[in-house]
Amino acid sequence: MIDYEVEHDFPHIGKKVMLLNAYRIEFEGQYKDRILIAIEDITEKKELDRRKDDFLSIASHELKTPLTTIKGLVQLLQRMVPEKSPEKFNTTLDKVSVYVDRLNILISDLLDTSKIQSGNIELHLDPFEIDKTIRDTVENLSVSAPHHKISLKGSTNATILGDELQISQVINNLISNAIKYSPGSDKVDIYINRVGNFVKISVTDYGMGISTQDKAKIFDRFFRAKEIQKKFPGLGIGLYISHEIIANHNGTLWVESEIGQGSTFSFTLPIMKNH
Ligand code: ADP
Repeated sequence: MIDYEVEHDFPHIGKKVMLLNAYRIEFEGQYKDRILIAIEDITEKKELDRRKDDFLSIASHELKTPLTTIKGLVQLLQRMVPEKSPEKFNTTLDKVSVYVDRLNILISDLLDTSKIQSGNIELHLDPFEIDKTIRDTVENLSVSAPHHKISLKGSTNATILGDELQISQVINNLISNAIKYSPGSDKVDIYINRVGNFVKISVTDYGMGISTQDKAKIFDRFFRAKEIQKKFPGLGIGLYISHEIIANHNGTLWVESEIGQGSTFSFTLPIMKNH
């Protein structure tokens, strides 16, 4: 039994959440019938986590409202640009729009993490062609990262029953990370193929790689590798969200990487029956 949570109303101490771990102990082939059980009271920790999630959810929600208004106002300004306005005026307005979009994505990601935590993330399931979704996402990213060569190989001709927007968010996260964490290289390779009843999508970069120690925590919420914290901006939630999205679609997301050798993030998704 690993990390099994139970809530129980105890006499005297009241309602508590306990974390149970149990291992069978074996020593030189003996004591096979013994079990080591660890019980930890995690009531306070759970309560703290809940408060943090509430804060995140309220803060991101409150931030989103005025930002949506700002976005609308910027669009209005873009449509009202007076004739003969200096070029600088237009480029500045476009930059404001880009940064508002960026802030919007960040806040949406934060909101997503709190939705995931509370189990409130909604899936809009519709059949879609995964090859096209990947192609479109790669094209969009290629425009915003002109210095990187993003190559796409293979095809699946498969239809997936899932939330296309969320899946393209995962592909976006993985490719953006591949670009962000490989400052010394300009190549990102994407490979798609069928494996049994699944499609497999892999994103390979030739960048800094991830240590064995960090690999275990890479999909945790707010985790960021120590050495990169100051060099690259980020909140450490993209991979957490991606992992949850893929799990909600009955797929798996994992990483193969060695420090200094680059990384390959892969995920699978079940192919829709008869497609
Ligand atoms: P963020 O990029 O905002 O930090 P993510 O959840 O996307 O958040 O990534 C978490 C951490 O995983 C990153 O901070 C980085 O340390 C590591 N990481 C993710 N992708 C890669 C990659 N392609 N190469 C090396 N490290 C990576």
